[in-house]
Amino acid sequence: MARIMPVYSRLITFLRPYRFRLIIAMMFMIAVGVLKGGQAWLVKPVLDRIFIEKDLVMLWLLPLAVVGLFIVKGILDYHQAYLMGYIGQNIICDLRTKIYRHLQTLSLSFFSRNPTGVLISRITNDVAAIQGAVSNAVTGLLKDFFTVLALAGVVVYRDWKLALISFILFPLAVVPIVKFGRRLRKLSAANQAAMGSLTSFLGETIAGQRVVKVFGREGYESERFHGQNKGLLRIVLKVCRVRAMSSPVMEVLGSFAMAGILYYGGLAVIQGTKTPGDFFSFLAAMLMLYQPVKRLNKVNNVIQAGLAAAERVFLVLDSKPDIEDMADAVDIKPMSSCLEFRKVTFRYQEEAVLKDVSFKIAAGQRVALVGLSGGGKTTLVSLIPRFYDVSEGAILIDGVDIRQAKLACLRSQISMVTQQVILFNDTVRANIAYGDLEKSMEEIMEAAKAAYAHGFITSLPEGYDTVIGESGLRLSGGERQRLAIARALLKDAPLLILDEATSSLDMESESEVQRALENLMKGRTTLVVAHRLSTVRNADRILVLAQARILEEGTHKSLMAANNEYRRLYQMQFAEEEREIGR
Ligand code: ADP
Ligand code: MG
Repeated sequence: MARIMPVYSRLITFLRPYRFRLIIAMMFMIAVGVLKGGQAWLVKPVLDRIFIEKDLVMLWLLPLAVVGLFIVKGILDYHQAYLMGYIGQNIICDLRTKIYRHLQTLSLSFFSRNPTGVLISRITNDVAAIQGAVSNAVTGLLKDFFTVLALAGVVVYRDWKLALISFILFPLAVVPIVKFGRRLRKLSAANQAAMGSLTSFLGETIAGQRVVKVFGREGYESERFHGQNKGLLRIVLKVCRVRAMSSPVMEVLGSFAMAGILYYGGLAVIQGTKTPGDFFSFLAAMLMLYQPVKRLNKVNNVIQAGLAAAERVFLVLDSKPDIEDMADAVDIKPMSSCLEFRKVTFRYQEEAVLKDVSFKIAAGQRVALVGLSGGGKTTLVSLIPRFYDVSEGAILIDGVDIRQAKLACLRSQISMVTQQVILFNDTVRANIAYGDLEKSMEEIMEAAKAAYAHGFITSLPEGYDTVIGESGLRLSGGERQRLAIARALLKDAPLLILDEATSSLDMESESEVQRALENLMKGRTTLVVAHRLSTVRNADRILVLAQARILEEGTHKSLMAANNEYRRLYQMQFAEEEREIGR
C-alpha cells in the first residue's frame, strides 16, 4: 500500500487541470444518486394514493412527478457521464503526449534496454487501463456510492426490520458470485495462455512453411494444431459452463431471499401494519440496489489494474536521459581543424568494446575504419553524435570536448548514412527533407539529383509526392540508400559518417550508390566504415580496429607493406573482390 500511495497521488496530479469539471461532475453524481432513491421512494405514493385510495388529484400529479424526476435525472446523468468521459479521455491524451515527449528525450541506451513493443504498450494499453481506473474509480465510488446510500435510506425508512433481514439474506446470494468470479479468473488466465501458444504456433508454422514443406510435415503440423485447438476449446467451454450457470444459480438463491421478504412483507400488509406502497417501495429500492452494489464490487479490480499500469508508465516517465546538455553547454562552430579521439574507452556493460582509442582526423580528410564484424566500428562512430558517451577519455572537435557542446548543435554538424535506411511513412519529398521540412523543392531536387535518385523518383506514380515507407511503396535497397544519401546531402553537414552504407547492396546497385556517395563526400570530413576495397583505397588514411584498439594506421600501401593485421584483414575480406575486379 505504501508503494501504491505515491502512484495514486501522482495520478491525481493529472486530474488537476480538470478539477472544476470534476467537482461539477461529482455534484451531478450525488444528485443522480439521490434521484434514484427518489424513484424508489415514489413507488409508495403511487401505489397507496392512486391504486388504494383512488385519489384523482394524485392520479394527475404523480405521473407528472415521475416524468419530471426522470427528465431531471436524465439531464444530470447525461452531463455527469459526458463530463467524466471528457475528463478521462483528456487525461489519456495528456498522458500519451507526455510519455511520447519524454521518450523522445531519452537516450539510445534506453531504447536498447526496452523492447519497442513494450514501449508501445505503455502508450496504448497501460494508458487506457489508467483511464479506466480513473473514471471507474470516480464514477463508481461516487455515483454508485451515493446511489447505494440513497436506496439503502429508502429501504430502511420504509421498513427497518425487513431491511435488516434482507441485508443479512441477500449477501448469501452474493457468495456464489464471488466463487464463480474466482473460477472465471482462473479459466481466463488459462484461456490467455492457450490462445498465446496457439498464436505463436501459427506464427511459427506459417512463417516456416518452407521448412514444413521441405520436410513433409504438413500432416504433422495439422495434427499438432488440431490438438492445441481442441485444448483451447475445452477451456472455452468450461468458461461457457460457468457463465451459463452463474445467473440461474444466483437467481435461485435470490428467490429464497425474495420469498422470505414476500412472506414477511405480505404478512405485514395483510395484518395492516404496512401499506402495499410501503412494501413495494421497499422492494423497488431493494432491486435497484443490485446493479450499483455489483459495480462497486468490481471497481476495485479496475482500480488495481489501473494502478499497476500507472506504476509502469511512471517508470518510463521517471527514466532519465543518460545524455543531456550540460548546464553550461556551448554552441560549437563548424569543424575547421580536427576531430580527435583521445584515449577513448567505451563499454556497454563490463567489457570494453573500445580501449584507449586515440586518433585524429583533420578537417577535409577522408578516413576509412576497417575491422572484423563485431569489432566495434559502429560503436566507435556512434560516439561522435553522442548516441552514447565515452566511458573514459574524450572526443574533441577543434579541441572542444563534445560533452561541452550543445547536443543539437553537435548533431547539426553530423550527417550519417548507415546500412539500414529508415524511411518514414510519408512522401519522398518529406523523407528527403526530414531534417528541415522548410527546404524548397529546388533544393530537394538538387540533392536528389546529386544522389542519383531524381531519375527513379520521377518515375514513381506521384513523383516527389509518392508516399513511401512502411505502409507505402516498396523501394529497392539501392533506391532507399540513395534517398538516405539525398537526405544527408540536403542536411549539408560538415562531418560525414558512413557506416557500411553499401554493404547490403548487390554490386550493380552499389555502383550507383557509390557514385552518389562520392558526391556526398566531396568537401566533407568523412569517417567511413569500409567493407569494400574501393572505399578503403580512396581513403586518405586507414584506421585498423582490432582487439578493441586502433592497432594500425596508414595508407593501403604502407599497411600492406607492414604485413600485419591490415594485411590479414585484407586477405580475408578484400582479396576476392580484387580478383573479381581484376578479371
Ligand atoms: P561492428 O560495427 O564493428 O560490427 P559493433 O560496434 O556493432 O561492431 O559491435 C561491437 C560490440 O558491441 C559487439 O560485441 C556487440 O555485440 C556489442 N554491442 C553493440 N551494440 C550494443 C548495445 N546496444 N548494447 C550492448 N552491446 C552492444
Ligand atoms: Mg557495424
